[in-house]
Amino acid sequence: MVIGILKEPFFETRVSLLAVEAAALIKSGHTIWVEQGAGSKSFCLDDDYKASGAEIKSRADIFDGADMVLGIHYKDVPGSVKNKVFIGFYQPIYHPEVVDEWLQQNNTVFSLDMLPRTTRAQSMDVLSSQSNIAGYKAAVLAASLYPRYFPMMMTAAGSIPPVKILILGAGVAGLQAVATCRRLGAVVEVFDTRAAAKEEVLSLGAKFVEVEGAADASKAGGYAVTQTEDFQQRQKQKIADSIKKADVVITTAQIFGKKAPVLITTEMIENMKAGSVIIDLAAATGGNSELTKDNETVVHHHVSIIGNSNLAASMPSDASRAYGRNMLNFLKLLINKEGSIDLNLEDDIINSTCITNDGKVISKIINANQI
Ligand code: NAD
Repeated sequence: MVIGILKEPFFETRVSLLAVEAAALIKSGHTIWVEQGAGSKSFCLDDDYKASGAEIKSRADIFDGADMVLGIHYKDVPGSVKNKVFIGFYQPIYHPEVVDEWLQQNNTVFSLDMLPRTTRAQSMDVLSSQSNIAGYKAAVLAASLYPRYFPMMMTAAGSIPPVKILILGAGVAGLQAVATCRRLGAVVEVFDTRAAAKEEVLSLGAKFVEVEGAADASKAGGYAVTQTEDFQQRQKQKIADSIKKADVVITTAQIFGKKAPVLITTEMIENMKAGSVIIDLAAATGGNSELTKDNETVVHHHVSIIGNSNLAASMPSDASRAYGRNMLNFLKLLINKEGSIDLNLEDDIINSTCITNDGKVISKIINANQI
């Protein structure tokens, strides 16, 4: 099979497959075509791909001659290309308009953000691998922006207390942020609506703040669910109490397929200390604070609010490496020993990730959302 690797849009630093993963596919008998300069922002150069046995091609050549095209962003599937197989991180649940286009062009499109959160799918889970990086980077970014030390310091000039950090949402990104902040010596407090998160937070040496009466999320496939109005009010009150004491806040709270819950009001920000920093990883879906703007830094009452849901892209080498490994594991499942696609719709991984095929919407999640 001829597999193409695209150069991502200008704002993206990652690439869907690095040379080392390309070499693994070539070893299995595939031909790899890489768009010129595709890996340069991830520090994987055309020469590295060539050394792995891949060929450097133009974008037009890839769309024309490859059997399968790998990418990240939904803009990698152009409206003009027909009858092709695409695999990426296209987030169709947030961009429903592109699904119609894929249907019209008879493209078979797989989107890895739609994987089920099961043990079997873990090695392919791009949401987890990229969130893990984002959580780490959020902590490191906060440490570099915050105008004080993170750890407690005992110096000849006197002692300095450790920074107090509040983390909202203890999923993959939140837990990695907790672990990284703890390693940097911070005192950390965490909120999450899923009861299952408590044990993980405590095991990292952070405090878990419980709010009674959260809606049961045990049947939501690992994701959180929307909370009642009453719960939201009580949670806001507890967050208001915690945020007054916090120097840094990292927010990661998401509800799959929906707008992010607003957990921090303008009034809460106005009660924070001057110099405090908020890093909002939920910015792309509206943000967890009222003042978050996606891809912008807002300064209000001497508090900096950084809205960035794509922090994984600020570590493009490791982010591409993890993404490429996820992709490789997915391809091992999708491509059979004869080297062609095995569209086994009985398999929940294939069934969930296959968005369109043969002019039909396949994914149950997309169908349930009536896209
Ligand atoms: P996510 O990005 O969808 O959400 C981030 C966190 O925000 C979640 O922990 C969620 O409970 C929390 N949240 C939502 N609303 C909130 C609110 N109002 N207040 C406070 N917190 C709120 O989550 P994620 O990182 O994708 O992971 C969710 C869960 O799925 C985790 O337990 C993770 O370990 C699990 N998971 C399992 C697998 C697997 O088994 N293959 C893979 C990935 C994740």
